Amino acid sequence: MMRIPLSPAQLRASWLDRTMIMAVVLLSSVFPVELFPHTSPAVKGLDGQYSGKQGQVLVVTVKGEVQATEVTGTFLDRTIPFFREFRPGEPAGYVGLVGIDMQDDPGTHELVVEVKQGEQTKQLSFNVLVSKEKFTVEHLTLPKDKVDLDKKAVARWKTEQMQVKLALTENSRLKLWHSNFVEPVNGKRTGIFGSVRIMNGKPRNPHNGEDIGAPMGADVVATNDGIVRITVDHIFSGRGVFLDHGLGFYSMYFHLSEIVVKDGDLITAGQIIGKVGATGRATGPHLHWGVKLNGARVNPYALLNLPFKNGVVPAINLSTPISATISIPETGHVAQ
Ligand SMILES: [Zn+2]
Repeated sequence: MMRIPLSPAQLRASWLDRTMIMAVVLLSSVFPVELFPHTSPAVKGLDGQYSGKQGQVLVVTVKGEVQATEVTGTFLDRTIPFFREFRPGEPAGYVGLVGIDMQDDPGTHELVVEVKQGEQTKQLSFNVLVSKEKFTVEHLTLPKDKVDLDKKAVARWKTEQMQVKLALTENSRLKLWHSNFVEPVNGKRTGIFGSVRIMNGKPRNPHNGEDIGAPMGADVVATNDGIVRITVDHIFSGRGVFLDHGLGFYSMYFHLSEIVVKDGDLITAGQIIGKVGATGRATGPHLHWGVKLNGARVNPYALLNLPFKNGVVPAINLSTPISATISIPETGHVAQ
């Protein structure tokens, strides 16, 4: 490979590598990096620290005159592949969506962003303060056999978990989604993301999505472009669709009465994928909508507030797969 002479900026960056980048502020002229959670820009505290709550999404933008060939983040052992972003009148940048899992430990964690340009690699290091979200407590009463599983049901559940896990190892290495996210169904939010669930008096896994109450048979649409990675009919999730939006980003739609797509279908934002139902472990017709970002369970409504509107982020034909290190989301969580 031909070696390109290093610019003063690059030389400064490699010097910073060796000194472990103690002062982020020095880099601001080379690679301004912006972080902010889904609602409003994060408060930048002392020492350049950023913050987000459990279940939120941080948008990390790496901008600069240097053309990187690959940008990858690591946060709490999760790998975040960055994608190219073009904004009119601005130099091309790279964007990573960093999910804060609903159960990530509160406290300060390091976000490492590795920027590769040819043979040069530069590491940026940031502190992210994760703060506790005040999750509600929900008491639910369900048929005993839906909560206390017998041996046969446990075996079925385990097999189903494995099936999902295997299917999700096939994640798309292209960014398939575009700028505008869509709420999959109109309705009242009846089960709140992250709520602690007490079922028939016993504490269970926290709720890993949002439940939206809607009439039986109402259309359920895809929140954004993607590919149907797997459709299921499982003990907890009932009839469900897993959409792969690329780069380790998945959305899930459970308890459907009917699925109108099949595995491998390419889906566009707003396309009908199924109908509201009450299949699996459900107390009545509703949609369970879940989202995973590189293994982190995040609040799906965070998507609707991402700052990608009006076609600013390119659609699939402009997107470049820039990372070869895509993590496999873990899938130990069941629909409820
Ligand atoms: Zn649910």
